[in-house]
Parts: sequence; structure tokens; C-alpha cells
Amino acid sequence: MADTDPITREEWQQAVDFAHTGLLIDSARQYGLITGGPEIDLERCEELLRRGADQGIWPRRNAVDLCLPTFLTSGERPECPRCGRLLTTERSRRAQLCEVCLEDSRHQSGGQPA
Ligand SMILES: [Zn+2]
Repeated sequence: MADTDPITREEWQQAVDFAHTGLLIDSARQYGLITGGPEIDLERCEELLRRGADQGIWPRRNAVDLCLPTFLTSGERPECPRCGRLLTTERSRRAQLCEVCLEDSRHQSGGQPA
């Protein structure tokens, strides 16, 4: 779907990293290395990789390190590591903090949580 396409170069990089990781997870499942886990849309992964490559965007070397944790928790209900609230918004999932903690850390002048 076009409205879920990455827009900025940064988003494309992230999408390509995720697509790369997604394909890897699916391969591992086919080989029986893992069972269960998130459902991977292979066609979408391949499409994003192809279209990323057209723009000169390739998976980063640490793509899997960056993306795997998100994949592994994507089938679950993600919780805020600080307070245990569910991460309900896209923004909070990306930050791995609930909206309340996000607000909190913004109010702290240093911005660096302990
Ligand atoms: Zn929280």
C-alpha cells in the first residue's frame, strides 16, 4: 500500500533494514531454526529491498542487531520498560517508552534518563 511507503531517506534505510531482517527470520524458520514468531510479508520485504536498492540504499551491516529485537517483540504486547504500561502508539513503540514516560523525559532538562 502506497500510504505505508517510507518517505525520507532515513525511513527508507530503516525499512530496508527491517526487510532484510524479515527475510532472514523467514529463512531461519524455513530451515527449522526457529518456530513461530512474527508473520513476515516476503513480497513486501523483497519489494522494499528492491526499491531501496534502486535508490542506493542497502541494509546496514548491523541491520539485524537493530531490527531483530523489534521483530521478536512485535507479536507480543510491548510494554514500557520503565513503568510497564503498554506501548500503544507508533511513537511510543519507536521510542520504547510509553507516552507518559516520553513526556517525563521531555520535561527533564538533561533529557537523559537515569
Ligand atoms: Zn512508561
